[in-house]
Amino acid sequence: MADCLFCRIVAGEIPATVVRDGEHTLTFRDIAPQAPSHLLVVSREHVENAAALAEADPGLLAELIREGAAAAGAEGFAAAGYRLVFNTGADAGQTVFHVHLHVLGGGPLGHFGTPES
Ligand code: AMP
Repeated sequence: MADCLFCRIVAGEIPATVVRDGEHTLTFRDIAPQAPSHLLVVSREHVENAAALAEADPGLLAELIREGAAAAGAEGFAAAGYRLVFNTGADAGQTVFHVHLHVLGGGPLGHFGTPES
């Protein structure tokens, strides 16, 4: 999609710090990290969110998670632990409507999920 930020990163039209370049996925550093290490795994194909991808291509959804785990290993925090997050929809904070897996790690992360007051 021409106006999709992550499609444009996948196409190389917008720069990103890429850490893994897969056949069906691309993994790069989040521009505004929320943890010592914060990566995004995106599908090369445009799909709106994780739920839509589960319907369209469950194998690709699993591949995003495998890529996230592999990136956690490459970053050196697979054994210590990390968080995988799919924000799905506006109330969850999804701002880019192209499926992406947040991989957060590199130190203790604390709790999450508190409703906004
Ligand atoms: P979400 O809020 O779940 O839709 O996540 C979108 C994420 O994309 C946010 O964590 C942003 O910081 C991140 N982001 C936005 N623009 C860029 C960019 N140009 N390169 C890397 N990450 C980005």
